[in-house]
Amino acid sequence: MQSQKIPSQQLFSFEFYPPKTEEGAASLQVVYDKLAKLNPEFFSVTFGAGGSTRDKTFDAVITIQSKGIQAAPHLSCVASTKENIRAILKSYQEHGISKIVALRGDLPSGMMSAGEFRYANELVEFIRQETGDCFQIHVAAYPEVHPQAANEVEDFKNFKRKVAAGANAVITQYFYNAEAYFYFVDACEKNGIDIPIVPGIMPITQYSQLFRFSEMCGADIPRWMRKRLECFGDDRQAIEAFGLDVVTKLCQRLLDNGAPGLHFYTMNQAAPILAIWENLKL
Ligand code: FAD
Repeated sequence: MQSQKIPSQQLFSFEFYPPKTEEGAASLQVVYDKLAKLNPEFFSVTFGAGGSTRDKTFDAVITIQSKGIQAAPHLSCVASTKENIRAILKSYQEHGISKIVALRGDLPSGMMSAGEFRYANELVEFIRQETGDCFQIHVAAYPEVHPQAANEVEDFKNFKRKVAAGANAVITQYFYNAEAYFYFVDACEKNGIDIPIVPGIMPITQYSQLFRFSEMCGADIPRWMRKRLECFGDDRQAIEAFGLDVVTKLCQRLLDNGAPGLHFYTMNQAAPILAIWENLKL
């Protein structure tokens, strides 16, 4: 299971959310500059479902690009129309963007209409129809199974639809059980899927937010980790030290066993990523 060939070049990417305030935008510039020094393949910027961050995502993408870093906007299709998505694609094409992370997104509470797209495979199909090979398309995968999926078999079938629709690469939801990733990669190989499956990595810097977030997105925090984290209480330093150790070991294991790179959920902070990077001696 863990005997995949190690790719000749492992590629790294960093994900940000668009800043809400001018202050946030200013401090993000410093974060961009620090992380750009690590020579990543690209920076990606999230997109609020229903288009709630449409302009802010666009602005962040253009800022990143102006620094000479490849920017990959996320694009979620839930609660959106074809016309909206077409306009967004057009503006990215005009600005020389060549990568997109294509997602369904989650319908914001209170928003009743799912719009003209139901699932991410329909978005991938639409991007290909509208723009041909203009964009390299990344899609999401869930080694621990998407929380709304009927079961693992159905979830994998649905994942395959996105690949068949024309995805070029995959970024996973974060996980702390490396086996889940290795089993997922095995299943891809058995199904003839040979595009890169890049593990998503969430640094651990605090507990309650991570716990809430993980509940929502279906990422498992193993019992032994939860028990340790609970004991640290408000001791931020202890949480950070433990988190750094756990996540470094996870990344090392993934890279040693064939992961084609790592995609870091930065939460707009450079320090946790730099610490992991230094530990990994990349
Ligand atoms: P899909 O692939 O459409 O899957 C969603 C669910 O529907 C799954 O349970 C799947 O099994 C099922 N399904 C899929 N296709 C079909 C079908 N044809 N028929 C029946 N069932 C089907 N959210 C945002 O809002 N903005 C972001 O910027 C963002 N970035 C993300 C980045 C990454 C790397 C990841 C892993 C997630 C991100 N998310 C983002 C969260 C994501 O939008 C949610 O996890 C969402 O619930 C699912 O999106 P998806 O693209 O994986 O959906």
